[in-house]
Amino acid sequence: MDNGSVKLFKGFRVQYNDARGPNKGGIRFHPEETIDTVRALAAWMTWKCAVADIPLGGGKGGVICNPKTMSEMELERLSRAYIDAIGRIIGPEKDIPAPDVYTTPQIMGWMMDEYSKLKGCYSPGVITGKPLSVGGSEGRGDATARGGAYTVREAAQRLGINLNGATCAIQGFGNAGQFAALLNSQLYNMRIVAVSDTRGGVYMEEGIDPDAIIKHKMRTGSVVNFPGSRPISNEDLLELSVDVLAPSALEEVITASNAPRIRAKIVEELANGPTTPEADEILFEKNIFVIPDFLCNAGGVTVSYFEWVQNMYGMYWEETDVHEKLDKKMTKAFSDVYEMSQDYKVDMRTAAYMVAIQRVADAMKARGWV
Ligand code: GLU
Repeated sequence: MDNGSVKLFKGFRVQYNDARGPNKGGIRFHPEETIDTVRALAAWMTWKCAVADIPLGGGKGGVICNPKTMSEMELERLSRAYIDAIGRIIGPEKDIPAPDVYTTPQIMGWMMDEYSKLKGCYSPGVITGKPLSVGGSEGRGDATARGGAYTVREAAQRLGINLNGATCAIQGFGNAGQFAALLNSQLYNMRIVAVSDTRGGVYMEEGIDPDAIIKHKMRTGSVVNFPGSRPISNEDLLELSVDVLAPSALEEVITASNAPRIRAKIVEELANGPTTPEADEILFEKNIFVIPDFLCNAGGVTVSYFEWVQNMYGMYWEETDVHEKLDKKMTKAFSDVYEMSQDYKVDMRTAAYMVAIQRVADAMKARGWV
């Protein structure tokens, strides 16, 4: 640590299933990280890559730490030490990490550098979500929210909801939440009426200017006290009567206890695991259209896949190409899942599992694993 002391951090990397290709999935830096959460998230990455139909398996990593209380140099040393520990089990053809909760492009840059040092050669394909200057992809920054926005467009079309002027509430204001505010408003002219982060939320009936609140958060560290807004708690935000509710931070925020009071028409699950299984059933009975996490937020890993392809080819695409390819992938994934849900009269999450598990099972069978 900066004060000369030595601190030990515990970290994990889980590889769940690589039948369809190298394992893929982010790394979380979080004080409450557990091996079980990382295992569950590695499984979800498997289903996510399968549903998006990209040739990758599922993995996830995590380190128990609180980046909010660490200096930049401490974070760099921790990032490098994590790669020193898992360097042998990752690689462009084995397992390709990426950003997740509280990890950034800069952290990916350090990690790529540490891996390249271990290998003795520049290896950008080992990790995605890197800064553009070291093999990052155009369009990776907002990819999770952009992919989510495309699925909202598809859902609204099926449900006959006009998104022009429709209301949206966003719980969580990190990478996914901030870009959801920008894109849902820019692409469809939706009105962002409420946003929140760990310190609280803000509400504005007439709509919050996404650019202005992102600047406010960068300046003050939080969305709270945004000029012209009134405060709202994270709990109340989730229960607002809006067209689109986007839980965009951590798992288990829509539970059996608040699900009966959720009033959104569409739930855009940008976080991983925001809805518990009990809550899921309640939402389904209430006819609330849930775009399940591993479909809704698959845009992030899809552009990660594009980044990896570009790294392997050493040839780079323009942003408009990335957007177009992402739209195609997300639209196809949504319609595969939607058709499955219609054919078998099941909710979208069950349908997404059906599509994904079938694809993974086919690969396992073809390889003679089962
Ligand atoms: N962490 C993101 C996710 O949960 C992205 C993973 C990746 O790009 O590999 O989907």
